[in-house]
Amino acid sequence: MENPWSMPKALEQSWLDTLIDLQLNRYPDSVAIELVQRLRAVMEIPDESAIMLGNGSDELIQAILMAIAGNGRTVLAPAPSFVMYEVLARACRLSYVGVPLRQNFTLDMPAMRRAINTHQPAVIFLASPNNPTGTVYQQAEIEEILNLAPGLVVVDEAYHPFVRPESESVIARLADNPDLIVMRTLSKVGLAGIRLGLIAGHADWISELDKLRLPYNINKLTQATASFALDHWQVFQDQIGEICRERDRVYASLSSIEGIEAWPSDANFILFRISDDGATAIHAQLQARGILIKCLHRAGSAMENCLRVTVGRPVENDAFLKELSELLLR
Ligand SMILES: *Cc1c(COP(=O)(O)O)cnc(C)c1O
Repeated sequence: MENPWSMPKALEQSWLDTLIDLQLNRYPDSVAIELVQRLRAVMEIPDESAIMLGNGSDELIQAILMAIAGNGRTVLAPAPSFVMYEVLARACRLSYVGVPLRQNFTLDMPAMRRAINTHQPAVIFLASPNNPTGTVYQQAEIEEILNLAPGLVVVDEAYHPFVRPESESVIARLADNPDLIVMRTLSKVGLAGIRLGLIAGHADWISELDKLRLPYNINKLTQATASFALDHWQVFQDQIGEICRERDRVYASLSSIEGIEAWPSDANFILFRISDDGATAIHAQLQARGILIKCLHRAGSAMENCLRVTVGRPVENDAFLKELSELLLR
């Protein structure tokens, strides 16, 4: 789910200029004050909220789970969702409950209410837009979950930059919800290589979580590069706009192919199902033709015969659509 475009050549030299004076013999700023200020401004994080940075948001998911780990504690998330919630929960010896989404991949609110009531989760993860489905959850549903939750609610907005304008971020809800944490990352918007994620939330929570952060977890090259990128944010916004237009074009083409069911996406990828069995074979044949997408198929699961494609450059998307249509005609 990377951005297929690299930094424009015209920016590259001024980016390199910012790296010259970094003094790599010295440790980085352990709290990355300047970078945090820029992130707060660009992402419109309220002044009252505290921010903690991670070496990718994966590291922050790990810190949250280490913080809440304890006997009998449970982590809850809709299913399917981002796999690291479960992987890291289990590594921390936590119980993990996945609450199946409905068939159209919206939240099953009656099932969520029951599961929260039964399991009293110490933390609930809501990825919105969700990976691997590309769906955004409704603001009112997130609000209700916040009201019902006995513990922390983490809304993972890794794909927020790709949502259609009408869906707002829950960042605006931080001030009224002390048990809400919002997570973001620069990985999906063109900076996967520098590993930078962040959480924003109430200072009481963030100061506890920060005790688990390793000193100097955000290196100097990452701090300088991210600050530079945020100072030139419009360039990345333009790339995101282009990716969103391509996403809508690929979605329309995919939906018109006979034998494919595709789901509308608010992210930079599209989930689709092959109506005949054979997702595994299609995946392998695409790979043999030089096109790598994700196979999510597991017999009997909600992802049966499902594949997920990341939106690439127009030529890459065209190649994918052409090869896929050919394979399905055979
Ligand atoms: C990719 C992804 C992440 C992890 O991003 P990093 O910042 O690269 O670690 C977190 N959440 C979701 C839902 C993702 O898809």
